[in-house]
Amino acid sequence: MKLSVHPMTLDLRTTFRVSHGASDQRHNVLLKIEHDGLVGYGEAAAVPYYGDTQESLSAYLNCLPPLGNDPFALEEILNALPAGAHAAQAAVDIALHDLWGKMLGQPLYRLFGLTPTPLPPTSFTIGIDAPEVMAARVKELNYPVIKIKLGADDPEAAVAAIRKSTSARLRVDANAAWEPEQALELITRLSRYNLELVEQPLPMGNVESYLWLRQQLKTRGVTTPIFADESVKTARDVAAYAGAVDGVVVKLMKTGGLREALRTIHTARAHGMKIMLSCMVESSVGVSAAAHIAPLCDHLDLDGPLLIANDSFRGLRYEGANLFIPQGVGLGVLPLPQQL
Ligand code: MG
Repeated sequence: MKLSVHPMTLDLRTTFRVSHGASDQRHNVLLKIEHDGLVGYGEAAAVPYYGDTQESLSAYLNCLPPLGNDPFALEEILNALPAGAHAAQAAVDIALHDLWGKMLGQPLYRLFGLTPTPLPPTSFTIGIDAPEVMAARVKELNYPVIKIKLGADDPEAAVAAIRKSTSARLRVDANAAWEPEQALELITRLSRYNLELVEQPLPMGNVESYLWLRQQLKTRGVTTPIFADESVKTARDVAAYAGAVDGVVVKLMKTGGLREALRTIHTARAHGMKIMLSCMVESSVGVSAAAHIAPLCDHLDLDGPLLIANDSFRGLRYEGANLFIPQGVGLGVLPLPQQL
């Protein structure tokens, strides 16, 4: 199998601000694995929060030892990958799965034994801005499921302004910005705005504070579900957070690809937890891979390709908030003619 690594810079349609920082571009990496006249595509998203850069991800992929000549040996190949960024490992996993489907002439979801419809609608993410700007954007979008990024700075004003402008389902994501006491007060107040769920209210790495928060909310009669994102990367973390949160956010860039994403989903189910399948800022390559396992999940947050202006692949289709799993072989996405 022959690997080639290509920088893939994504232009965001609007500045994307979360509690960790803001960006107008994201610098991802496209991986091609060629074998027997077929090409598998994979993507690694460089997320500033995790300390990955286009250069560090490219360096990892360029220095991989040979993967051998049997793309069906997924378990062996992926288990032997050197330690490194999960996003870079995800690119290898996704490209191998794409090849796998292409060699067998089937879309991935069929190889996983899944059926393609109906999927839950995906949310559309609104970055942090002045409350009236966020509310105006939500009104203009007229979208049925909205995910609101919140910081530590008066988050209730943003939610109140948005709730006034829409009857859409609302999820909020604090990206680890709140302290436990603050989160308790905020979620209690925010629960009046009919939120579907609250994502990662507290910093990562502290299961006890999540347990405390959940218990306190319960005592107050607040039933808004709490989901862990940054805190839970793989199946092992799911087990640690069982009982401390209502659900987990699964992303291929955190798990290191589809195989560990499936293990993470099954572990969450075994613990009676809900699952939201999400993405980073990614092109249709990464998000299509996620789409093929979407039938296993309760909520979808797969808006990556909608946030960028220069997706260089086609095949993943959206109609409003409805996402359609590509029907082509493998991932089912192809590069636009002027690309690779
Ligand atoms: Mg999140």
